Amino acid sequence: MTRDHRHGPDDELALRAAALEAVLVEKGLLSTDQIDAIVERYERDLGPQNGARVVARAWVDPAYRDRLRADATAAIGELGFGGFEGATMVALENTPDVHNVVVCTLCSCYPWPVLGLPPTWYKSPAYRARVVAEPRSVLREFGIELPAEARIRVWDSTSEVRYLVVPQRPAGTEGMGEEALAGLVTRDSMIGTGLARSPGA
Ligand code: FE
Repeated sequence: MTRDHRHGPDDELALRAAALEAVLVEKGLLSTDQIDAIVERYERDLGPQNGARVVARAWVDPAYRDRLRADATAAIGELGFGGFEGATMVALENTPDVHNVVVCTLCSCYPWPVLGLPPTWYKSPAYRARVVAEPRSVLREFGIELPAEARIRVWDSTSEVRYLVVPQRPAGTEGMGEEALAGLVTRDSMIGTGLARSPGA
């Protein structure tokens, strides 16, 4: 099976984008204001705060959690998130027995609509190789010590499928509302290299 990771090195992508922008503006098909608005949207509106809302909703609403399990793309779309670099999403639920962690072994495929742009370490050759070969050691370096009996599942992203880890809901959060819960959901907890924060931590 061929693996498709349809995006090149950042430099090449930036160059192609700049060339395309120049042509479209020159032909009057696009204004620089429109382009600025798109860039602003990526910087301001796309980030781990979106994924955190998905996770918090799944924690408080069992029917939503079921829909997220059945069709993550649609369930994430219900909250208004989707599109480029997130067209097919799969949610991975952590349990006491199974911890999920996400990588792109070939490049840097990442679910932009729910997590924004990938952190530098996610794109590093060291993470991409080591999290597959020795996930438990890598997680320990990120500060996660999993029980010996917990199984670690490593998921390799592609341009076709992107993953969102649903971390375990921390203890002591029973009375908390959805918005407060979302504040406990870190970016790394949705990649699997972190856990959701405990309240008050
Ligand atoms: Fe990739």
